[in-house]
Amino acid sequence: IIQFGQSEHSVITTCAYCGVGCGFKAEMKGSQVVRMVPWKDGKANEGHSCVKGRFAWGYATHKDRITKPMIRAKITDPWREVSWDEAIGYAASEFKRIQAKHGRESVGGITSSRCTNEETYLVQKLVRAAFGNNNVDTCARVCHSPTGYGLGQAYGTSAGTQTFKSIEKSDVVLVIGANPTDAHPVFGSRMKKRLRQGASLIVIDPRVIDLVKSPHIRAEHHLQLRPGTNVAVLTAMAHTIVTEGLWDEAYVAARCDAQSFSEWLEFVRQPESSPEAMESVCGVPAATIRAAARLYSTGKSEGTAADVATHRPNSAIYYGLGVTEHAQGATSVMAIANLAMLTGNIGREGVGVNPLRGQNNVQGSCDMGSFPHELPGYRHISDSTARAEFEAAWGVTLDPEPGLRLPNMFDAAVSGSFLGLYCEGEDIVQSDPDTQHVAEALMAMECIVVQDIFLNETAKYAHVFLPGSSFLEKDGTFTNAERRISRVTRVMPPLAGYADWEVTVKLANALGLPMNYAHPSEIMDEIAALTPTFRGVSFERIERLGSVQWPCNDDTPEAGVDTMHVDRFVRGKGRFLITKYVPTDEKVTRKYPLLFTTGRILSQYNVGAQTRRTENNAWHAEDRLEIHPVDAEDRGIVDGDWVGIESRAGSTVLRALVTERMQPGVVYTTFHFPESGANVITTDSSDWATNCPEYKVTAVQVMPVTQP
Ligand code: SF4
Repeated sequence: IIQFGQSEHSVITTCAYCGVGCGFKAEMKGSQVVRMVPWKDGKANEGHSCVKGRFAWGYATHKDRITKPMIRAKITDPWREVSWDEAIGYAASEFKRIQAKHGRESVGGITSSRCTNEETYLVQKLVRAAFGNNNVDTCARVCHSPTGYGLGQAYGTSAGTQTFKSIEKSDVVLVIGANPTDAHPVFGSRMKKRLRQGASLIVIDPRVIDLVKSPHIRAEHHLQLRPGTNVAVLTAMAHTIVTEGLWDEAYVAARCDAQSFSEWLEFVRQPESSPEAMESVCGVPAATIRAAARLYSTGKSEGTAADVATHRPNSAIYYGLGVTEHAQGATSVMAIANLAMLTGNIGREGVGVNPLRGQNNVQGSCDMGSFPHELPGYRHISDSTARAEFEAAWGVTLDPEPGLRLPNMFDAAVSGSFLGLYCEGEDIVQSDPDTQHVAEALMAMECIVVQDIFLNETAKYAHVFLPGSSFLEKDGTFTNAERRISRVTRVMPPLAGYADWEVTVKLANALGLPMNYAHPSEIMDEIAALTPTFRGVSFERIERLGSVQWPCNDDTPEAGVDTMHVDRFVRGKGRFLITKYVPTDEKVTRKYPLLFTTGRILSQYNVGAQTRRTENNAWHAEDRLEIHPVDAEDRGIVDGDWVGIESRAGSTVLRALVTERMQPGVVYTTFHFPESGANVITTDSSDWATNCPEYKVTAVQVMPVTQP
């Protein structure tokens, strides 16, 4: 039995950075953390860690932490430190005033994947039950909302199908739009170990990521596609598998919906879906697409139907934001889901469809109902049975209509109908696309309440600042990319006096919604009572077993389910979905002849608010624009030069990094530093199904400039 929180010197908790969710021992001296040691019994990391979790926790006590609530009537006024009661009272009265004048729909809330499950649950409860609308969204909107939509449509639930350990049984690994060695380092190492043992690797990415060529590892195929053409490549792979007879007929007949399959088959067989037709679209030779499709379905690049008649390999797909953050993000997820069903690669170890979640609790924030159309547990707000359960528990009547998504909130603000925002743990000004539009929206609002540990970029537009708490200052749970729910354990008192969940409770009560919890474990008990897939989850069970994986209830093993969709899909039969390639509207022109795309680097994390305030900053102290030597030479740019980058949305300046990691015609940067302004140039283009922004494709021009 693991003793949580009982040792003065060593406390088990979970890393607050990426979606791997590594377990750590916080080694303590009094209430001071002296080091973070990776927990050998942590199932997500088995004693391993990366430079972020291991070393970059000092931000929690950084001098920039704000520990006093503050208010101001106008954003041009100086901040005024006030008591908690005054700040909460002011925020509540402003929200009430705005709703009285402009209607119930005129306010909303945003929660973050940095928050615990319990905090996220409370924010959506506050919006639904205190504001009385469904205007709640999460930063998953701008990363994995297409995963929710695509996997929900195909399989019936939005979640990775495997555990990380599953890769130990994989014969073929397909990585698309993900860079695990930088963004999910501990899992990236696990993947490399399996590849060194002999598993075959296919990489689909516009950039030469480390996995393509690293010591002792070579991708058998690197499909270096043009940004924005994932659907073309994936559909062409499916065409190859179908027309060469490499699909798993028995699996499809037994496990998949016949009607959807026959309609999809007709679509995918067409010559327009072939690799030869798609070659000019995606820039990948047809022969390479065919070889990758054979490798994925048969285990050999020259594989035939005869090969799979006797042996079918375990093939697993891992994908990231290079799949989702596109105008066809949801379609790409559906195309991935189709490929896995077509080849019978769902429902056992070593296979599956595995979204690599960027932030620590993206999975959890989606699970907890922080989308405007879904209650906790992915039940649609229009479902009267689900609504009735929450209404009975919360003592309110819920609005059956979906609320505003995050970008719709911005649009409504600009048009004058959305005027109040409660924003917990999310820096929307730096992280969302088209910064100018976000700023315009925020300036149009009458009351913005920011709850965060630092005065972030969004706080520049706020009227109330409520100091937040770091992961070291609160109890709760995070859910990682493999649906694993792990404990976050308070190791020191909140610097501002209250943990984030307590602040939301105060605000709810001030708004007239009674909330009364003695500890976050009671919030989880409420979640479990209202969410069938969480019915067996409790702090007691997590602490006793180390972690649990949802679904976790009376129908599952005590620690929950490791492999999903074993005998049947959550929706019953798996559903094939038509994935017609539609080019993005974002096109290169004479004025903007290059495609700009973005990503992450190992030592930094997202908008950098935490890692920039640690020694990790010494390893990567600026964002740089990666550009191919040919494009650099054409423009007279040499390595280290300052360059201006301009799109139809805006412009910024960075230093150039000339590298053959890029393909000609494509440039790339990270977005860890606010001053580099990567999202000043990304546009408002977004996924057709979910409004997830198209961060990965922006037409730009790049030219040398003098040092700014
Ligand atoms: Fe933290 Fe992710 Fe690194 Fe693990 S891999 S230590 S969860 S940042």
